[in-house]
Amino acid sequence: MFDKFKDECGVFGIFGHAEAANLTYLGLYALQHRGQESAGIASADGVRIRASRSMGYVNDAFDTETLAGLTGHLAVGHVRYSTAGESRLANAQPIVIDSAHGQLALGHNGNLINAGELRDALVNEGAIFQTSTDSEVVVHLFARSKAASVESAITEAIGQVRGAYSFVLMTKDRIIGVRDPHGFRPLALGRLGDAWVICSETCAMDLIGATYVRDVEPGEMVIASGSELRSVKPFAPAKHSQCIFEHVYFSRPDSYVFGESVNEVRTEFGRRLAREAGVPADVIVPIPDSGVCAAVGFAEQSGIPMRMGLIRNHYVGRTFIQPQQSIRHFGVRVKLNPVKSILSGKRVVLVDDSIVRGTTSRKIVRMVRSAGAREVHMRISCPPTISPCFYGVDTPRRSELIAATHTMEEIRKYLDADSVSYLSLDGLTDSVPDGKTRYCTSCYTGVYPVAFPRDEKAYLQLALKLNPAPSPSSAPQPVTTAGFDTDDLTGTAAEQLAGAGSSRSRRSD
Ligand code: SF4
Repeated sequence: MFDKFKDECGVFGIFGHAEAANLTYLGLYALQHRGQESAGIASADGVRIRASRSMGYVNDAFDTETLAGLTGHLAVGHVRYSTAGESRLANAQPIVIDSAHGQLALGHNGNLINAGELRDALVNEGAIFQTSTDSEVVVHLFARSKAASVESAITEAIGQVRGAYSFVLMTKDRIIGVRDPHGFRPLALGRLGDAWVICSETCAMDLIGATYVRDVEPGEMVIASGSELRSVKPFAPAKHSQCIFEHVYFSRPDSYVFGESVNEVRTEFGRRLAREAGVPADVIVPIPDSGVCAAVGFAEQSGIPMRMGLIRNHYVGRTFIQPQQSIRHFGVRVKLNPVKSILSGKRVVLVDDSIVRGTTSRKIVRMVRSAGAREVHMRISCPPTISPCFYGVDTPRRSELIAATHTMEEIRKYLDADSVSYLSLDGLTDSVPDGKTRYCTSCYTGVYPVAFPRDEKAYLQLALKLNPAPSPSSAPQPVTTAGFDTDDLTGTAAEQLAGAGSSRSRRSD
């Protein structure tokens, strides 16, 4: 709806409850903010897996009859936003397959860096893919595994993928949660009576009355198959790279993510922002809803009162019909309306969590001015976003990121603000325990913790939304397009793109 990085996916799993599918439905409902394109649930009763997937919101994807057909005491669910693969029903998850190891259902949050490479190898060996998602390679690798047990086959399959993954998997009689060794995406573990719950965020546990126990650790696989939960760490350890953007924007503020209260972390971002970039003002105004927690912290630290000077219309959905060009300036006003009694004649500090392109922020600043504000100061509770994400988040090309292509003064002028300041990288990482050692900050630094395969030039091109990939016969060459060249990448990604060779492409979103 606004100019933001797009959420990824949400996963949910429950073992040992007679209402497993209904509880999964509720869990997905709580995780709806992580994906709105499709929703799916698979359940099992110890004998077989049943599944239902549909495009659209959770509320629209299931009815009482569908849920009644999803019988059994274990279930996994998924809400999807397509970070890799098109938005169509075939790509909805959980993916369910039948194999020599039995049935398997899989839900994935993240993005597999080497999926294209693995997929080509599998296709060359005769595999037939049903979807265009990166996640499907895992079920093919599982099906082809010669391992003696189901769990060994899952371990062998997941051991071959690289990148970001929080998986929930289900066989006919167990659910398994797996988090990649870097721990990019969250995955939490909880209890509901004797049942085990595994899900992306704890807000899903709150809705069903489950208790948060702990996070699934980076590189850990947890298996619920009886009253006990088993834990194994079958993968080589790696430097932890938990996505700090989960705290900045993606996760719900009522969740605990990476063991921390998102609300508290976001409020601390605001306090630090006020210390770093305070300004004389009359009122702090959050840009709802994403700027509210940071604005609370900013107001607390600065002593300037916070008022809701912008009111959001919560009933603007994806079906909103864009008006004709002649009246399109109503676009932002349909979503936000300024409160003149709060803004008129005031020096206003607008607080938001992030700026991507800057287009919406500019409209909001102008709207606040038109409501009579004397001064408008923009404060952003994260550092400038200068690089795309390859770990499960949909981001625009680098040349569209305003902070990647403009100086701070140019941004201020573009936004029509009296001043603009962002939280520093140190301010961001100092707001969470082990922030400098356990978190990914690549979209602020351009330095990427997981190397890309050297033959994945086209992957990068699509991921960065560059020009089409060259033909397979083309020699490796620097990528140059209007407004974008290899200088647009920094650190390891730039080196790898410059050295990349093949023209494989899988990412189509
Ligand atoms: S690049 Fe940014 S959005 Fe992506 S995982 Fe890292 S911190 Fe999160």
